[in-house]
Amino acid sequence: MALVSLKPVLDAANKYHYGQGAFNVNAVAQAKAVIQVHEMFRSPAILQGADLANGFMGGCTDFVHATLEDKRRGAKRIGDAVRAFGESASIPVVLHLDHGKDFESCKAAIDGGYTSVMIDGSSLPFAENVDLTREVVKYAHERGVSVEGELGVLAGVEDHVFAADSTYTNPLKAIEFFKKTKVDALAISYGTIHGASKGKDVKLRCQIPITIRECMNHEGITGGLVSHGSSTVPAYIVDEINALGGELKNTYGISIQELKEAIASGINKINVDTDIRLAVTRNMKELFEGRRELQTSVWVGEIYRLLEKNKDKFDPRVFLTPIMDTVMLGNIPNSDVAEIIGCIERGVKEVVGTLIVQFGSYGKAPLVSRKTLDEMKEFYRENEK
Ligand SMILES: [Zn+2]
Repeated sequence: MALVSLKPVLDAANKYHYGQGAFNVNAVAQAKAVIQVHEMFRSPAILQGADLANGFMGGCTDFVHATLEDKRRGAKRIGDAVRAFGESASIPVVLHLDHGKDFESCKAAIDGGYTSVMIDGSSLPFAENVDLTREVVKYAHERGVSVEGELGVLAGVEDHVFAADSTYTNPLKAIEFFKKTKVDALAISYGTIHGASKGKDVKLRCQIPITIRECMNHEGITGGLVSHGSSTVPAYIVDEINALGGELKNTYGISIQELKEAIASGINKINVDTDIRLAVTRNMKELFEGRRELQTSVWVGEIYRLLEKNKDKFDPRVFLTPIMDTVMLGNIPNSDVAEIIGCIERGVKEVVGTLIVQFGSYGKAPLVSRKTLDEMKEFYRENEK
């Protein structure tokens, strides 16, 4: 079936009290594996392309400097890949833009087939954030596409998102933001941090989502609450990477226990990226360790050299540049490249499968109302007169 928008997926999570993971995609093989593992667990699925990941998928390996053209091309490629696997899947699948930084980026994603977009105006003054978000909501809702906004600032690094320290979301402002912008979901700041160095024993301030949710109920607002920077950074995977010669230091995530408490406090969508990156990197290091002949393969030997040169990194995008055709289009020219694809697919399934179970979204696919984008368009028109 056709891809669905974010709103019905988060409405179900809210109504039936479970957490819905949202997973970033930087390669065709990753999109396929994320959808397959959700299907296996009968879970609804949210796949995200980050603004700059779209630049990477557009062929710009120096993706921090991707142009709008790169992003447009990449947004379409991720869209094509998710549609190819998602439309034949038995579960509802959302294709969401993560951290859209301006109206044009969001428009490029929507025009490329995304069914949901995030506009991140969190670094702007409140009134400007409202204006920018409203502009995106208008364009998106006229097409049945959902919108996520952000209020409050998270610490850490995630692609282009840099913030020195965290400013928690003011619940009163969150309610005002929902009312003024009509967003479907809101990312809040309550103690999570982007990246793999969140510090030891992070405690989330769950009073914030509890308060916002309570006020939303009183005001009749039905939106979703989103937790960014929520990777768990599994210690066993970090240990395995370091045992294979990696040099990862100061890597800590948010504990599963904290995330479960956040879900019970009203958080519906939980964004995870780092966990997948770590598992894929470990799998590649393990592959080259166990199959030494691949270290000099003309097809994938360069990946091994990049892994050796960047022992303190774990973003597969740093290592996969020698096989960009495979990353962007899914071509598998030979068995050496197929081994790398296997590393990506197994890594995704290991960590995403774990989180589907921990967040409680397994078996929930039939609970999602499968409205088409045309039906959503009608819904918004009726409700936003
Ligand atoms: Zn984020």
